[in-house]
Amino acid sequence: MRVGRAAGITDPGRRRLRNEDAFICEPPLFAVADGMGGARAGEIAAGLAAAALEEAGSETRGEEGVVALITEANRRIWERSLSDPQTAGMGTTTTAALVDAATGTVGIGHVGDSRAYLLRGGELEQLTTDHSLVAELVQSGVLTPEEAERHPQRSAITRALGTESTVEVDAFTVQSEPGDLFLICSDGLSSMITADEMRGAIEQADRDPARAGEALVEAANAHGGEDNVTVVLFEMVGPPVDTADGPVDASLDTAVRTATSPDEDTLEHVPVAVAVATAEEEDGAAPRDEAEAVNEGEDEDEDEDEDEASASQRRHGAGAGGRIAALTLIAAAVAVGLVVLYLATTR
Ligand code: CA
Repeated sequence: MRVGRAAGITDPGRRRLRNEDAFICEPPLFAVADGMGGARAGEIAAGLAAAALEEAGSETRGEEGVVALITEANRRIWERSLSDPQTAGMGTTTTAALVDAATGTVGIGHVGDSRAYLLRGGELEQLTTDHSLVAELVQSGVLTPEEAERHPQRSAITRALGTESTVEVDAFTVQSEPGDLFLICSDGLSSMITADEMRGAIEQADRDPARAGEALVEAANAHGGEDNVTVVLFEMVGPPVDTADGPVDASLDTAVRTATSPDEDTLEHVPVAVAVATAEEEDGAAPRDEAEAVNEGEDEDEDEDEDEASASQRRHGAGAGGRIAALTLIAAAVAVGLVVLYLATTR
């Protein structure tokens, strides 16, 4: 299992001058951070979180790895806010996904209200639970999910990165399947459009991460664009592999598609190598009949020619038939000559 196509996109939206969101789209790591704070503090907090996450080494794995990364990011933002009064109180959300190719698992950790979703089959499932005021009110039964979507305090978060010396990170692991499409986004998307609208936009873009990302930002802006919008999408492809992190040969993708698309209706979508293999099978089947048909009308000399001929030549019986005609003509001419000679000698 490995990461297929991936894309990240961020947009200031229609109401904000600045963009305080940041994202990472560097397989196997994907993340979105949504900063908050006065002046440029929000940008600084989100930027620090992204920078800390980007330092993940190749040995960083699983949800424990994601928690370690986010915890380190928290420490850096907190320390910066202590040393730089202008950034006091700054914070950021962070939702990060780390893919482990060897096990086909995706470790996800998050703090705040940036969300992770999974599109599997036709269903878009929200994987994370917001650390927000309205989410807590929904959980305690005070608000309905519909009321939460319109609540004036819906962007108030109850947990953030960098506002305290320590942070509690929610983390879990998803066992991925081929075709899974993961979506991480800031609330500038999820507060503007519903999950159903997200799914529709992604399907409309044929699940292409780059096109889907643009479509989602467009949709958020069309619904008001009240906040910065950030979207990161990545797909999982291929069967589980034994090798850990090394890039997997592109032929793996070919193998999967061959196995799942054996019928001729899908031939135009399968790699050239597969189409050629199929064509060779057809070549092998059709000429056999032609060769047998040709052999029925031929003598042994022609059979030797047949054995030496290439496949493409064997497909055509006309050449051998022409030679037969020529031999017949020569035989006839010789016969006529013999008759003439006999008549001449018997006069
Ligand atoms: Ca936001």
